[in-house]
Amino acid sequence: MDYQQILESIRRDITPLEKEGKQADYIPALAAVNPDQWGICINTLKGEQYALGDWQVPFSLQSITKVFALAMALSLEGDNLWLRMGKEPSGTAFNSLIQLELEHGKPRNPFLNSGALVMADVLVERLGNPEASFINLVRQLSGCPSIDFNFEIARSEHSVAYLNTAIANLLKYHGNIHGDIDRVLRFYFMICSVEMSCEQLAHAFLAFANHREPFDHAGFALTSSQVKRMNAIMQTCGFYDEAGEFSYLVGLPGKSGVGGGIAAVFPGQYSVAVWGPRLNAKGNSVMGMKTLELLTTHTRQSIF
Ligand code: GLN
Repeated sequence: MDYQQILESIRRDITPLEKEGKQADYIPALAAVNPDQWGICINTLKGEQYALGDWQVPFSLQSITKVFALAMALSLEGDNLWLRMGKEPSGTAFNSLIQLELEHGKPRNPFLNSGALVMADVLVERLGNPEASFINLVRQLSGCPSIDFNFEIARSEHSVAYLNTAIANLLKYHGNIHGDIDRVLRFYFMICSVEMSCEQLAHAFLAFANHREPFDHAGFALTSSQVKRMNAIMQTCGFYDEAGEFSYLVGLPGKSGVGGGIAAVFPGQYSVAVWGPRLNAKGNSVMGMKTLELLTTHTRQSIF
């Protein structure tokens, strides 16, 4: 398969979409990112790498980091995690409050903000220094010791965190946050602020593409069955109320973030990271989704 040639043709095909969508601006520091960037990197399990565009430019991972938080929380809690959240698609926006109220403070899945706040509570409760454990894990997964939080992004998000604070309060009211709300929110914004390039992100997701091997990184361990199930949750819940559309168009498990990144895996074959800051109405990258749609179309490979 000549992936590099396929990437070149995808770049030509997506040009008309270059100005479509709008970058996230509800977090002030994200509004300052140049929206006219696009990059992709594929890492195969055989060790090949194919990349194009701005694939070495770091960007804000935002909700993509919920995948790393899930690996940590599952490793610590096992199936007990599912007593505090579900694993069903929500059909709602990532920051919606309505369903959470109707369902008495039990988030539908770990990739909603509510689910991630509960995971943040688990990690704050169980780990002596959750920030250090988190960054240590992502550094190991990406093979890049310089990866870090972006304190300015975290502070910027915290300064306008009206909705996430409301979600955390609702969770606390229902007893689904054990610790101090401010501490949990602070950790959550730190997680969201981590920056990586497509190159580093694709490398970090190899651990999930390699679903037949157990996960054992930085003191966090998952069985191969748990890795497989993480992919299942990415497939059904990784794109909020656009999870069905992503499944339909792309057909790979993946996770998006409002920084415009998407990480996806073709289990047993490769991991891929794409980035384009302009988002559609559901908060997913316009260029990112189209790129992956064309990738699985041209390669005729998806999980279906
Ligand atoms: N930090 C963002 C928020 O909580 C993450 C959302 C996202 O990437 N979908 O709103």
